Amino acid sequence: MNKVASTWSGALTPPADLPARADVVIIGGGIVGVCTAWFLARQGVEVVLCEKGHIAGEQSGRNWGWVRVQGRDTREIAMMQESLRIWDSLRDETGEDVGFVRRGCLFTARTAKELASFEKWTATAADYGIDSTLLSASDLDTHMSGCAVPLAGALFTESDGRAEPQKAGPAIARAAARAGATVLTACAVRGVETSGGEVSAVVTEHGVIRAGTVLCAAGAWSSLFCRSLGIKVPQLKVRGTVARTAACDSVLEGNVFDELLGIRRREDGGYTVAHGSILQHGITPSTLRWSFKFIAALLQERKSLSISLGKEFVDELRLPRRWALDDVSPFERMRVLDPEPSQRVLRGIRRNIDTMFPQLADVPIVEAWAGMVETSPDVVPMIGPVEELRGFYLATGFSGHGFGLGPGAGKAIAGMLTGRDTGIDLHPLRLSRFFDGSRIRPQSTI
Ligand SMILES: Cc1cc2nc3c(=O)[nH]c(=O)nc-3n(C[C@H](O)[C@H](O)[C@H](O)COP(=O)(O)OP(=O)(O)OC[C@H]3O[C@@H](n4cnc5c(N)ncnc54)[C@H](O)[C@@H]3O)c2cc1C
Repeated sequence: MNKVASTWSGALTPPADLPARADVVIIGGGIVGVCTAWFLARQGVEVVLCEKGHIAGEQSGRNWGWVRVQGRDTREIAMMQESLRIWDSLRDETGEDVGFVRRGCLFTARTAKELASFEKWTATAADYGIDSTLLSASDLDTHMSGCAVPLAGALFTESDGRAEPQKAGPAIARAAARAGATVLTACAVRGVETSGGEVSAVVTEHGVIRAGTVLCAAGAWSSLFCRSLGIKVPQLKVRGTVARTAACDSVLEGNVFDELLGIRRREDGGYTVAHGSILQHGITPSTLRWSFKFIAALLQERKSLSISLGKEFVDELRLPRRWALDDVSPFERMRVLDPEPSQRVLRGIRRNIDTMFPQLADVPIVEAWAGMVETSPDVVPMIGPVEELRGFYLATGFSGHGFGLGPGAGKAIAGMLTGRDTGIDLHPLRLSRFFDGSRIRPQSTI
C-alpha cells in the first residue's frame, strides 16, 4: 500500500517573483485560504496567498471528502448551508469538476436508543429547513446493500454531499488566480512586521510583502505561528488514517458513518474509508498547555481517542517558539505535514470493511495516508480579528469539518475582511471566546 501521490508530492518550484505589496496576504493554501482568496479576488481585492508547500497538501487534500450539514454545531449551520450552495455552483463558476455530488449522508444507529438520540438533531434541522430524517432498519436497504451488521436505523440527510479533496483545493486556487489572486507555493511566511501596533507586512522566505491585512489560515501550524507573535491560539492535533479501495461494485453511493467505518463512494468507483472509532492523539507539550480548555472535547471524544506518549512530544518540544525572520523557520523545515498512516488502524479498517460489507472482502485497499486534524477546544473554528494586533485575522481550528465548510467560510471571511455583510454571523466563532469566560461546550464531534 502506498501513500496518495499527487497533490502533496512532486517538486516544488519557488515563486519567480514576489509582489511588493497587496491589500490582503493569506497565510496557508488549504481549502480555507484558497476559498478566501477566490472570493477576495472576485471582489477586486489585491490578494496574495502564500503556501509553504503544495496547495491542499495538508488536511485539505487528505480528508474524507464529506460535505455535510448533518450533525453540525448550530454555530456552523448558516455557513455550511451557504457552503453547500457554493459547492453546487463550483463547476460552473470555476470551470472545473471537483467531484461534488449530493448523494446523502447517513449516521447509523445500532440500537433504538441511539436512533432516538438523533431526534435532537432532526428538531434542530427542522428549525433550519434541513431535510434530515430518521430511517428505519428496513428503509436502509435503499441506501446500502449487503450491510451485514444489524442496525436499528439511521439519521439521513439526502441533500448532503461529497467532493474529491485532491481536486477541490487546487481547482479553487486556479480559479482564484484566474480572478486575479497571486497564489504562491513553496513560499513560507516566517512572521509579520508591525508599525504602531498594526500589521504592515509579512516576511516570507523569499522576501517581504507589504500589507495592512493578513489572514492566518495555517491549519495545524496556526498556533505555532501565532505564538511567535505573542497570540495564544488553543489548538491540538489528532491523526486520522485513511484508505482508498480499488474500484468495485456499489454498496452505497453517499457517505455512511458507523462505529466500524466512515465510508464514502469516490468518483473513481472505489471507496474512501476510515475507521469509525479510532482517532489518535500523541501527547505533546501543547496537550499539557491546553488541557484545561480541552477537557470537554477530550471527554466527549474519549471513546474514539487513542492517546499515546511518543516521538511527537519531543518533536514539538524541539520546535522554537520564536525565530529570526531572516533565518529558516519551522515552516520551511517541514514543507508538508505528512504523518504516517497507522498500520494498526489500517488493519482495523480492513477487518471492519469485511465485517460490514462482506461483498467487499476481495476488494483491495490500494492506497493509505494520514492527516493531522487540528481542533479547537469546542470543535468549531476560530474566525475573526485578533484583538492584540490590528490588521491580523485568524481562520483556523476547523476541527475535522473544514473541507465541507471551506467555500462558505471563504465567503464569510472575505466579507469580514472587506466589511461586506454576508449574513453569516462570525461572532460566536471569535478567538476570544476561549479567554473571556465563555463556557467551552462542544456540540458536535471531531
Ligand atoms: C483525515 C481527515 C479527515 C477529514 N474529513 C473531513 C471531511 O470528510 N469533511 C470535512 O468537512 N472536513 C474533514 N476534515 C477536516 C478538513 O480537512 C479541514 O478542516 C480543512 O481541510 C482545514 O482547511 P484549512 O485550509 O484550514 O487547513 P489546511 O488544509 O491544513 O491548510 C493549511 C495550510 O497552511 C499552510 N501553512 C502553514 N503554515 C504556513 C506558513 N507559515 N506559511 C505558508 N503556509 C503555511 C500549510 O502548509 C497548509 O497547506 C478531515 C481532516 C482530516 C485530516
